[in-house]
Amino acid sequence: MAATVNFRPHELFLISGPCAVESENQLRQILMNPNRPTLIRGGIHKMRTSSKSFQGLGDEGIEIVKRMKKEIPFDFVTEVTDVRQIEALAPITSVFQVGARNMYNYELLKELSRFERPVILKRAFSATISEWLGAAEYLFQLGEKNIILCERGVRSFDTKLRNLLDLGSVIYLKKNTPFKVLVDPSHSMGLTPYVADAAYAAVAAGADGLIVEVHPEPACALSDGQQALNLNQFDEMVHKLKKLAPIFEKELRM
Ligand code: PEP
Ligand code: MN
Repeated sequence: MAATVNFRPHELFLISGPCAVESENQLRQILMNPNRPTLIRGGIHKMRTSSKSFQGLGDEGIEIVKRMKKEIPFDFVTEVTDVRQIEALAPITSVFQVGARNMYNYELLKELSRFERPVILKRAFSATISEWLGAAEYLFQLGEKNIILCERGVRSFDTKLRNLLDLGSVIYLKKNTPFKVLVDPSHSMGLTPYVADAAYAAVAAGADGLIVEVHPEPACALSDGQQALNLNQFDEMVHKLKKLAPIFEKELRM
Protein backbone atom coordinates (compact mmCIF):
# COMPACT_ATOMS: atom_id res chain seq x y z
CA MET A 1 0.00 0.00 0.00
CA ALA A 2 1.21 3.52 -0.76
CA ALA A 3 2.09 5.57 2.33
CA THR A 4 -0.34 8.29 3.34
CA VAL A 5 0.82 11.91 3.37
CA ASN A 6 0.66 14.23 6.35
CA PHE A 7 0.02 17.85 5.53
CA ARG A 8 1.57 20.02 8.20
CA PRO A 9 0.56 23.57 9.20
CA HIS A 10 2.72 26.49 8.06
CA GLU A 11 3.66 24.67 4.92
CA LEU A 12 2.81 25.61 1.40
CA PHE A 13 2.67 22.28 -0.29
CA LEU A 14 3.21 21.85 -3.94
CA ILE A 15 1.88 19.14 -6.21
CA SER A 16 2.99 19.11 -9.81
CA GLY A 17 3.02 16.80 -12.77
CA PRO A 18 1.39 16.18 -16.09
CA CYS A 19 -2.31 16.41 -16.80
CA ALA A 20 -2.06 12.74 -17.77
CA VAL A 21 0.60 10.07 -17.48
CA GLU A 22 1.57 9.51 -21.12
CA SER A 23 4.76 7.45 -21.07
CA GLU A 24 7.63 6.32 -18.89
CA ASN A 25 9.90 8.83 -20.58
CA GLN A 26 7.50 11.72 -19.93
CA LEU A 27 7.20 10.87 -16.23
CA ARG A 28 10.94 10.27 -15.86
CA GLN A 29 11.77 13.72 -17.23
CA ILE A 30 9.47 15.31 -14.67
CA LEU A 31 10.85 13.18 -11.83
CA MET A 32 14.47 13.92 -12.74
CA ASN A 33 13.95 17.65 -12.21
CA PRO A 34 15.80 18.45 -8.95
CA ASN A 35 13.22 21.17 -8.23
CA ARG A 36 10.19 18.91 -8.38
CA PRO A 37 8.09 18.27 -5.28
CA THR A 38 7.61 14.89 -3.58
CA LEU A 39 3.94 14.91 -4.53
CA ILE A 40 3.51 14.24 -8.23
CA ARG A 41 0.17 14.40 -10.00
CA GLY A 42 -0.76 12.51 -13.15
CA GLY A 43 -4.06 11.40 -14.63
CA ILE A 44 -4.50 7.69 -15.26
CA HIS A 45 -8.22 7.92 -16.01
CA LYS A 46 -9.19 11.19 -17.67
CA MET A 47 -12.71 12.62 -17.76
CA ARG A 48 -12.59 14.51 -21.01
CA THR A 49 -15.38 16.67 -22.32
CA SER A 50 -15.24 14.75 -25.61
CA SER A 51 -15.26 10.95 -25.63
CA LYS A 52 -12.96 11.14 -28.66
CA SER A 53 -10.19 12.90 -26.69
CA PHE A 54 -7.37 11.00 -24.96
CA GLN A 55 -8.93 9.18 -22.00
CA GLY A 56 -5.74 8.33 -20.11
CA LEU A 57 -3.64 5.17 -20.25
CA GLY A 58 -5.64 3.28 -17.62
CA ASP A 59 -3.94 0.02 -16.57
CA GLU A 60 -0.87 0.79 -18.67
CA GLY A 61 -0.50 4.07 -16.75
CA ILE A 62 -0.65 2.18 -13.45
CA GLU A 63 2.19 -0.07 -14.60
CA ILE A 64 4.27 2.95 -15.67
CA VAL A 65 3.82 4.56 -12.26
CA LYS A 66 4.74 1.29 -10.50
CA ARG A 67 7.96 0.97 -12.52
CA MET A 68 8.90 4.62 -12.04
CA LYS A 69 8.32 4.41 -8.28
CA LYS A 70 10.94 1.65 -8.13
CA GLU A 71 13.39 3.82 -10.06
CA ILE A 72 12.73 7.19 -8.36
CA PRO A 73 10.62 7.41 -5.17
CA PHE A 74 7.69 9.85 -5.19
CA ASP A 75 4.17 10.19 -3.78
CA PHE A 76 1.52 9.92 -6.44
CA VAL A 77 -1.68 11.96 -6.69
CA THR A 78 -4.26 10.82 -9.21
CA GLU A 79 -7.91 11.25 -10.02
CA VAL A 80 -10.33 8.43 -9.36
CA THR A 81 -13.29 8.80 -11.69
CA ASP A 82 -15.26 5.71 -10.65
CA VAL A 83 -15.58 3.55 -7.53
CA ARG A 84 -14.43 0.53 -9.53
CA GLN A 85 -10.97 2.08 -9.97
CA ILE A 86 -10.18 2.53 -6.28
CA GLU A 87 -8.72 -0.91 -5.66
CA ALA A 88 -6.35 -0.85 -8.63
CA LEU A 89 -5.23 2.73 -7.95
CA ALA A 90 -4.78 2.36 -4.18
CA PRO A 91 -1.36 0.62 -4.25
CA ILE A 92 0.24 3.50 -6.19
CA THR A 93 -1.75 6.45 -4.82
CA SER A 94 -0.91 8.57 -1.76
CA VAL A 95 -3.65 11.14 -2.34
CA PHE A 96 -6.84 10.54 -4.33
CA GLN A 97 -8.27 13.35 -6.41
CA VAL A 98 -11.98 13.76 -7.10
CA GLY A 99 -12.39 15.91 -10.19
CA ALA A 100 -14.76 18.81 -10.75
CA ARG A 101 -17.03 16.58 -12.82
CA ASN A 102 -17.41 14.17 -9.91
CA MET A 103 -17.85 16.50 -6.95
CA TYR A 104 -21.51 15.47 -6.78
CA ASN A 105 -20.75 11.74 -7.06
CA TYR A 106 -21.67 10.98 -3.47
CA GLU A 107 -21.30 7.20 -3.84
CA LEU A 108 -17.69 7.73 -4.93
CA LEU A 109 -17.10 10.07 -1.98
CA LYS A 110 -18.65 7.58 0.47
CA GLU A 111 -16.43 4.81 -0.85
CA LEU A 112 -13.30 6.99 -0.65
CA SER A 113 -14.15 7.95 2.93
CA ARG A 114 -13.53 4.32 3.92
CA PHE A 115 -9.92 4.51 2.74
CA GLU A 116 -7.40 6.09 5.08
CA ARG A 117 -6.02 8.24 2.35
CA PRO A 118 -6.23 12.04 1.90
CA VAL A 119 -8.70 13.16 -0.76
CA ILE A 120 -8.49 16.30 -2.88
CA LEU A 121 -12.06 17.37 -3.59
CA LYS A 122 -12.22 19.71 -6.55
CA ARG A 123 -14.99 22.26 -6.80
CA ALA A 124 -17.55 21.53 -9.52
CA PHE A 125 -17.85 24.09 -12.34
CA SER A 126 -20.86 25.86 -10.85
CA ALA A 127 -20.95 24.58 -7.28
CA THR A 128 -21.66 27.05 -4.53
CA ILE A 129 -19.32 26.96 -1.55
CA SER A 130 -22.17 25.37 0.46
CA GLU A 131 -22.62 22.59 -2.10
CA TRP A 132 -18.87 22.00 -2.09
CA LEU A 133 -18.82 21.79 1.70
CA GLY A 134 -21.85 19.48 1.52
CA ALA A 135 -19.86 17.14 -0.71
CA ALA A 136 -16.92 17.33 1.74
CA GLU A 137 -19.25 16.08 4.50
CA TYR A 138 -19.47 12.73 2.70
CA LEU A 139 -15.73 12.38 3.39
CA PHE A 140 -15.99 13.24 7.11
CA GLN A 141 -14.83 9.78 8.18
CA LEU A 142 -11.39 10.64 6.84
CA GLY A 143 -11.02 13.42 9.39
CA GLU A 144 -10.54 17.12 8.67
CA LYS A 145 -6.81 16.74 8.12
CA ASN A 146 -7.32 14.41 5.17
CA ILE A 147 -9.92 16.43 3.30
CA ILE A 148 -8.36 18.92 0.92
CA LEU A 149 -10.63 21.30 -0.95
CA CYS A 150 -9.35 22.42 -4.33
CA GLU A 151 -10.46 25.63 -6.00
CA ARG A 152 -10.02 25.12 -9.74
CA GLY A 153 -12.06 28.00 -11.06
CA VAL A 154 -15.76 28.25 -11.77
CA ARG A 155 -17.85 28.98 -14.85
CA SER A 156 -18.49 32.61 -15.52
CA PHE A 157 -19.88 34.87 -18.23
CA ASP A 158 -16.37 35.55 -19.46
CA THR A 159 -14.79 33.62 -22.30
CA LYS A 160 -11.21 34.91 -22.33
CA LEU A 161 -10.02 32.47 -19.68
CA ARG A 162 -10.87 28.80 -19.16
CA ASN A 163 -12.51 29.47 -15.80
CA LEU A 164 -12.86 32.23 -13.22
CA LEU A 165 -10.38 31.67 -10.40
CA ASP A 166 -12.45 32.33 -7.29
CA LEU A 167 -9.88 33.38 -4.72
CA GLY A 168 -12.75 34.66 -2.59
CA SER A 169 -13.63 31.05 -1.88
CA VAL A 170 -10.09 30.42 -0.63
CA ILE A 171 -10.26 33.40 1.72
CA TYR A 172 -13.69 32.30 2.95
CA LEU A 173 -12.77 28.64 3.45
CA LYS A 174 -9.59 29.45 5.35
CA LYS A 175 -11.49 31.71 7.74
CA ASN A 176 -14.52 29.49 8.26
CA THR A 177 -13.58 25.82 7.85
CA PRO A 178 -10.88 23.53 9.20
CA PHE A 179 -9.94 22.15 5.78
CA LYS A 180 -6.74 22.46 3.82
CA VAL A 181 -7.33 24.51 0.68
CA LEU A 182 -5.51 23.87 -2.53
CA VAL A 183 -5.58 26.05 -5.63
CA ASP A 184 -5.22 24.75 -9.17
CA PRO A 185 -4.02 27.73 -11.24
CA SER A 186 -3.65 25.53 -14.35
CA HIS A 187 -7.31 24.59 -14.84
CA SER A 188 -8.44 27.99 -13.52
CA MET A 189 -6.53 30.06 -16.05
CA GLY A 190 -6.18 27.51 -18.83
CA LEU A 191 -3.20 29.14 -20.52
CA THR A 192 0.48 28.80 -19.61
CA PRO A 193 1.44 32.52 -19.45
CA TYR A 194 -1.09 33.15 -16.65
CA VAL A 195 -0.49 30.12 -14.46
CA ALA A 196 2.42 31.30 -12.30
CA ASP A 197 0.86 34.70 -11.52
CA ALA A 198 -2.38 32.98 -10.48
CA ALA A 199 -0.31 30.71 -8.21
CA TYR A 200 1.26 33.72 -6.46
CA ALA A 201 -2.16 35.31 -6.00
CA ALA A 202 -3.43 32.05 -4.48
CA VAL A 203 -0.64 32.12 -1.89
CA ALA A 204 -1.61 35.67 -0.94
CA ALA A 205 -5.25 34.55 -0.59
CA GLY A 206 -4.18 31.98 1.99
CA ALA A 207 -4.00 28.74 0.01
CA ASP A 208 -2.27 25.87 1.80
CA GLY A 209 -1.04 24.40 -1.44
CA LEU A 210 -0.93 24.49 -5.21
CA ILE A 211 -1.47 21.81 -7.82
CA VAL A 212 0.16 22.73 -11.10
CA GLU A 213 0.36 20.97 -14.45
CA VAL A 214 3.85 20.47 -15.83
CA HIS A 215 4.97 18.79 -19.02
CA PRO A 216 8.49 18.35 -20.43
CA GLU A 217 7.16 19.23 -23.90
CA PRO A 218 3.82 21.02 -23.55
CA ALA A 219 3.38 21.28 -27.33
CA CYS A 220 3.32 17.47 -27.55
CA ALA A 221 1.03 16.86 -24.55
CA LEU A 222 -1.93 14.54 -25.13
CA SER A 223 -4.12 16.71 -22.90
CA ASP A 224 -4.05 20.28 -21.55
CA GLY A 225 -0.70 21.19 -23.16
CA GLN A 226 -1.92 24.78 -23.59
CA GLN A 227 -1.88 25.30 -19.83
CA ALA A 228 1.18 23.24 -18.86
CA LEU A 229 4.39 24.83 -17.61
CA ASN A 230 7.57 23.46 -19.12
CA LEU A 231 10.33 22.48 -16.70
CA ASN A 232 12.09 25.86 -16.88
CA GLN A 233 8.87 27.78 -16.30
CA PHE A 234 8.14 25.49 -13.37
CA ASP A 235 11.58 26.10 -11.83
CA GLU A 236 11.09 29.84 -12.17
CA MET A 237 7.74 29.61 -10.38
CA VAL A 238 9.24 27.49 -7.58
CA HIS A 239 12.04 30.02 -7.13
CA LYS A 240 9.52 32.82 -6.63
CA LEU A 241 7.23 30.73 -4.40
CA LYS A 242 10.17 30.05 -2.06
CA LYS A 243 10.58 33.79 -1.59
CA LEU A 244 6.86 34.52 -1.41
CA ALA A 245 5.77 31.85 1.08
CA PRO A 246 7.60 33.31 4.15
CA ILE A 247 5.74 36.62 3.69
CA PHE A 248 2.61 34.62 4.49
CA GLU A 249 4.32 32.71 7.35
CA LYS A 250 4.70 29.55 5.32
CA GLU A 251 7.53 27.48 4.00
CA LEU A 252 7.42 25.89 0.59
CA ARG A 253 7.30 22.11 0.96
CA MET A 254 8.80 20.26 -1.91
C1 PEP B 1 -7.33 17.50 -13.59
O1 PEP B 1 -6.88 17.93 -12.51
O2 PEP B 1 -6.67 16.82 -14.37
C2 PEP B 1 -8.71 17.85 -13.97
C3 PEP B 1 -9.33 17.21 -14.94
O3 PEP B 1 -9.21 18.88 -13.28
P1 PEP B 1 -10.74 19.30 -13.05
O4 PEP B 1 -11.41 18.09 -12.48
O5 PEP B 1 -10.59 20.42 -12.07
O6 PEP B 1 -11.28 19.73 -14.36
MN1 MN C 1 -5.62 18.78 -17.01
